[in-house]
Amino acid sequence: MKIRRLLSNKISNETEYRELVEELLVASTAYHTLDAPVISDADYDEGMRALTVVETMHPEWKINHSPTMRVGGPLRDGFKKVTHPRRMMSLEDAFSTEEVQAFFERLKMELPGGFIVEQKIDGLAVSVRYRDGRFTQAATRGDGETGEDVTQNVATVKNIPLMLDATLVPTEFEVRGEVYLPEASFQKLNADRLAAGEAPFANPRNAAAGSLRQLDPKVTAGRDLRFFAYGIGMDGAPPVATQSALHEFLRRLGFSTPEFHLVDTIDHLAPVIEKTIAARGELGYDIDGLVIKLDSFAAQEAAGFLTRTPRWAIAYKLPAQEKTTILEKVDWQVGRTGVVTPVARLKKIELMGTMVENATLHNIDEIERKGLYLGAEVFVRRAGDVIPEVVSAVQTLDLSAIAPEQRIVAPVECSECATPLTRDADKVALRCPNPVCPARVVESIIHFASRKGFNIDGLGDKQVEFFHEKGWLKSVGDIFRLKDWSMWLMGQKGWGEKSVYNLLDAIEKAKTVKFQNMLFALGIPEVGEFMAGELAKRFTLDELMRATEAELLTIDGVGGVVATAIVEYFGNEVNRREVERLLAEGVTIVYPEKVAFDATLAGLSFVITGELSKPRDEFKQLIESKGGRVTGSVSKKTSYVLAGTDPGSKLDKAKELGVPVLDEAGFNALLQRTDTEGGA
Ligand code: NAD
Repeated sequence: MKIRRLLSNKISNETEYRELVEELLVASTAYHTLDAPVISDADYDEGMRALTVVETMHPEWKINHSPTMRVGGPLRDGFKKVTHPRRMMSLEDAFSTEEVQAFFERLKMELPGGFIVEQKIDGLAVSVRYRDGRFTQAATRGDGETGEDVTQNVATVKNIPLMLDATLVPTEFEVRGEVYLPEASFQKLNADRLAAGEAPFANPRNAAAGSLRQLDPKVTAGRDLRFFAYGIGMDGAPPVATQSALHEFLRRLGFSTPEFHLVDTIDHLAPVIEKTIAARGELGYDIDGLVIKLDSFAAQEAAGFLTRTPRWAIAYKLPAQEKTTILEKVDWQVGRTGVVTPVARLKKIELMGTMVENATLHNIDEIERKGLYLGAEVFVRRAGDVIPEVVSAVQTLDLSAIAPEQRIVAPVECSECATPLTRDADKVALRCPNPVCPARVVESIIHFASRKGFNIDGLGDKQVEFFHEKGWLKSVGDIFRLKDWSMWLMGQKGWGEKSVYNLLDAIEKAKTVKFQNMLFALGIPEVGEFMAGELAKRFTLDELMRATEAELLTIDGVGGVVATAIVEYFGNEVNRREVERLLAEGVTIVYPEKVAFDATLAGLSFVITGELSKPRDEFKQLIESKGGRVTGSVSKKTSYVLAGTDPGSKLDKAKELGVPVLDEAGFNALLQRTDTEGGA
């Protein structure tokens, strides 16, 4: 798109102004009508701001179809048209609290009742109409006057009530709000689309719009869309006097409404913005800003409307979560387990306060499905605190028509040790099978020394790479021999006496290590932080090295894959020697307080129901302390149902499935019996 060029050169004549209008109109149709944006929102917003400035300075250039004059884009073919009884508006944007303040100062009026600050849900505006409390029709905002009839599709949105308490609402009643797609559902939808060879959606907003504007409502029904109500579109007196009371009212009717805060003056806005930004990543859905409205409906009415926006509200935009940039290069990185991962090297951009220049691409299949090629303009997105992701190419090209030098091709051999790469059984992951591949060794030492492992201060990526290059660190055990190189090290650039002593001191201290940290540090496949903790509670190092799969399977959370991985790991001579070496270097293991392991009920699963002599939780703890499991519902796999008085439907289910039912006496007898039998 030319937009970046136009924006970087400032619009100085009418031709450039018209070009900008055209660019924005094309982008607006792609976004609003086709749900497939061709530029990022950040660029679009910047373009719109530039356009507004130019139109103020040169009103004589202004053309009637300028995007500053309209809401939305052309309607999509295939849908019936619905005329909105009252226009559905857009909102003016602000990017700083000063702009918000200036906006309301322009109103030049007393502002009784203060402001309401609502989350601005990044979805698609929809009106939902009811007659006598029954859902009758739903429409998109469209161009504000006319929208698309999406009645069937909106009926599938789970949290939109289809019946309202008719005594609370007028005969004709219209609720307005935003249909959106939760972040997790967006991720899943894109993963499914990639797997089916379809282009991913650029962001949850486009995914929501694309899902709602389906000619087949069954497709919409499968998409997990949700709705937040924030307004009503009706003539006559509203049922309440303020926007904050409207939230209450809508909730009472069964709608979800977005979070909001009430503030007396604009000065109190800054903390709300800060709080919102901090919590944005945890919401589970996208917000692109805050909407600041006069709370009182009377005050809103007095303020009135402009062509496309109300004068009583403004959208405070939050930093964009997604931008476009250029994919310059792809590197293939060998990880500690040998998996080779493509990493995108991007033209640096700022995204939500951090500079982004790298992003993981997972595997070659994904690269192809996302339509990526070198030099491509790509959407990069960052959801909350999650690491940035390349979502897709802005322009999808036929990959076979791409110049050979732009194609991204998976390597056939390891870039570090030239070993031919293998493909995992799932045929997706590439792997360097060489256990002494320098890249693998370096990564496993970095992992070993990391915070959740031996937690060695001052031994990070750079230092490990440096020592490895010098030949001083060939395995994790060598860490504890680094002291032998201290004289040489002190002569190296960047290493003074103090930093060397600090490092050696940190290494010495790290020798006393919690067992769970040690297990994590070893990098046993399938053993992450949580699993390491669980294993450490049950085994000593000696016991774990000798444990059989059957013994491992008695531990909560350990399934077949994990058990096999552990047995295989300690069955490997190289790994055993590595562990012995650590002990020989003076590593001392600190074990967690031992939970006496009693396997009386190991392998048995229980469902508890009805009133018992003690709280259910106590029975649960007792069962778990003896290696059993407690689940919530009865299935064929349930070993026993422990039933007290008034057991309810779970007892019926047990009878239906033939699952044995125990009363308390029977349960105690089971404990005695299995005790004397020495386990189940
Ligand atoms: P908007 O979507 O930014 O703001 C208006 C809308 O906010 C309302 O119509 C309503 O749907 C919604 N909203 C969400 N929460 C609300 C709340 N609590 N109260 C009231 N309204 C609420 O404005 P717009 O004019 O519809 O579209 C502009 C947006 O679309 C911008 O974010 C822009 O970046 C994006 N856009 C992007 C492109 C592109 O090419 N990438 C093109 C066109 C528009």
